[in-house]
This record gives sequence, structure tokens and C-alpha cells, in this order.
Amino acid sequence: TFTTLSSDFFGLEAGLADYEKAKLAELRHYLETDVKPVVNDHWDRAEFPKDIIAGLSRVGVIGMAFPETWPFETTAVFRGWVALELARIDASVATYVGVQNGLAMGAIGVCGSPEQRAQWLPGLGSGQIVGAFGLTEPLSGSDSAQGLRTTAEKRGDTWVLNGEKRWIGNATFSDICIIWAKDVADKQVKGFIVPTNTPGFVATKIERKQSLRIVQNADIVLTDVVIPHANKLVNANSFADTATVLRLTRGEVAWAAVGIAVGAYEAALAYSKERIQFGRPIASHQLIQDLLVKSLGNITSSLALVQETSRMQDAGTQRDEHAALAKAVATTRMRESVAWCREIFGGNGIVLDYDVARFFADAEALYSYEGTREMNTLIVGRAITGHAAFV
Ligand code: FAD
Repeated sequence: TFTTLSSDFFGLEAGLADYEKAKLAELRHYLETDVKPVVNDHWDRAEFPKDIIAGLSRVGVIGMAFPETWPFETTAVFRGWVALELARIDASVATYVGVQNGLAMGAIGVCGSPEQRAQWLPGLGSGQIVGAFGLTEPLSGSDSAQGLRTTAEKRGDTWVLNGEKRWIGNATFSDICIIWAKDVADKQVKGFIVPTNTPGFVATKIERKQSLRIVQNADIVLTDVVIPHANKLVNANSFADTATVLRLTRGEVAWAAVGIAVGAYEAALAYSKERIQFGRPIASHQLIQDLLVKSLGNITSSLALVQETSRMQDAGTQRDEHAALAKAVATTRMRESVAWCREIFGGNGIVLDYDVARFFADAEALYSYEGTREMNTLIVGRAITGHAAFV
């Protein structure tokens, strides 16, 4: 049965349809019983718990955005609540789903032809095919609209890819990776579905990360990787097409940021009621209540923002600057909140077993990926002033 989260202070979840609430209840039960118990150990060892791919598929989380792979039509608002629910338990698991659903399937769903959608989406949507999304490079992060160095050259009925990628989530074990590369002929960024077993494709795990340790990020080297023309995404012909995919996923990252804050807040609230200092629970001290209420205020205002952003996506009125503002604001509020929640744990707040240390560390990656706070700020700045500060 479904109960509204106590951190959803204004009861926004109540607005979901009954079948959506039932799905969320099923997901919450799975995450709390099967995923939560294993995440700290996997985080510690920097390993991805591959068993959960089947579990996430069973509860219907993989492939939600597309009619080819989902039993009922989902709204961006519902998918947002799912992202929150995932991140509330673990941000790495939310990131895994975000890469699979939003970035890999999103690229094919948005930029693929009907044939490409039919070929790839069902396998990705069932979790049988794992996807990755390769845009960032060692020398090009925020400036990937103009700075990509990876090249694509059309030779007959094939494309030849050369270059390097960095930070690519899931890519150490993914079956395909969407590679974004500059066409040497017209200098435009184009997207390609690259099976990772293609000769010349080498992915190496990035070690010693101190945030999102469960996510497997890879450095990729592409050396004369030859793929058929059929694998070029038909409607990915300039960076504007890449940006459309990113706008849609950025909104969900904002929801995941709220989820991280919710996870940290719930842990801190429970701890504050149990921990006794000066003869009474620390929850009864005014300054601890201040930290809890400030965190709840951040969560509540961010929730209203991300829900409205998703409503605009559903209505077809969302622009880049809406998703950018939601991501920049929600991640900034998240970063503030996880620090306050960690503070409530005192020394225990830096020990993995109390969960809050993981939320605290993982928040940093969400703050920077899918467009840093600075870049999302500049997207909004361009929209309100008419001046682009970053070209
Ligand atoms: P840089 O672009 O080098 O930026 C460094 C700093 O300079 C930042 O603070 C930035 O905001 C600032 N800056 C840059 N330009 C300006 C400017 N014009 N004005 C003001 N400030 C500026 N990428 C993928 O393609 N696929 C993935 O699956 C993926 N997963 C990721 C997972 C994790 C855990 C992480 C950390 C990253 C991932 N990324 C992925 C890459 C991510 O999107 C980039 O890290 C991000 O875009 C920032 O790029 P950068 O790290 O190269 O930083």
C-alpha cells in the first residue's frame, strides 16, 4: 500500500493516479528490502550490484519513457517521482537508471528512426541490453557543444570513429554506447549506436572516485571503430539534437537531487529522535530543529520546482532554461541540505554505516554532471538577458 513520504510535506504525491501510486509503492518496497541493505558495502568496494538490473526491470523501472517498452503511458511527473524514490535510497542506482532510460534510450527514442527504435528499445527497456552515453571527453566537458575532438568519417556504407571519451557511466559493462562525434565532412556533432564489442572500442574503469562509487564510469578510447551506417542515429545531426536529449534528462537529475536530500533528511530526522545528549533526544534541541526545518524547506521548495518543470515537459512547453534552472537550484539546495543533515550525526555522520556520509559524498557528482551549476546558470542567463556568456 502507498503512503506519502513524510518529507513530502505538502503532500504533492497525492496528486498521482492510483496506478502510479501502486507502482511507486512496489518500487519503494523493492528498494527498501533488496537494494538498501547492499548499497553501503558496494559503495565501499566501488562495485555495481549487477543483480539489481533484473530487479529494477521486474518492478518496471527500466525503459519507462517509451511506449515500445512500458505497459502504460508515463508522464514526466511520474518519472520524476521514480527518480526521487531511487535516489532516496541510493544516488548511484538512480544514476544507473538515468543513464539507461534517459541518456541511452532517450538518445535512440528522440533521435532514432522508427526502425532504430524498434531494433534497440525493447532490449534496452527489458534491461537485457545495457546502454551508455558517451559525450564528455578528456579535453571537453562543459564546452562539448563546440569542443568535441572525437571524429566520425563516412566511408561507403560505414562510419569510422576515432577519439577518446571520459566519465562514461555504465560503460565498463554496457552492451552499447551512444557515441557523439564530429562529422569530418560538415563538422556537425552526430550520434552513433556503437556495440561495445566492436574492434577498437576499449573502456577502462575510472578508479578512486570519492562520489557515486557504485557507478562504473569509464575512460573510452576509440581507434578506427567501424560501424554500419544503419547505426547512425537518423535524427542526430547537430549538437541541438544532443541538447534535446540532455534537456529531458536534466529535469530528472533535478528530481534525483531532491531524492538525495530526502534520503539524508529522513536519516537525520530518525537519528535525531534516537540520539540522547544532555539527557534528551537531540531532536528536542532548538538548533537541531533549525537544521531539520531548513532541510525540509529546501526539499519542499525544490519539489514544487521540479514538479512544475516536469509538468511543462508533459505539456510540451518546457524550454532549455526551465530544465537548467531546475537542475541548478535543486542541486544547490541538495548540497546545502546534505551538509546540514550530516552535521546532525556529529562524528557518526562521516561513517558509511549511517548512510548520510554516502548521500553527502554522492551529492557532489550530481552537482557537476549533466551540466555544472555554472553552465546551467549561464543557460538561464542567456535566456533572461539575451546575451550568451559561453560561446
Ligand atoms: P569542466 O568543463 O572542465 O569545468 C570545470 C569547472 O569550470 C566547472 O566548475 C565548470 O562549471 C566551470 N566552467 C567551465 N566553463 C565555464 C564557463 N564558460 N563559465 C563559467 N564556468 C565554467 N558524461 C557523459 O558524456 N556521459 C556520462 O555518462 C557521464 N557520467 C558522469 C558521471 C559522473 C559521476 C561524473 C562526475 C561526470 C559524468 N559525465 C558524463 C561528465 C559530466 O557531464 C561532466 O563532468 C560535466 O559536464 C563537467 O565537465 P568537466 O568535468 O569536464 O568540467
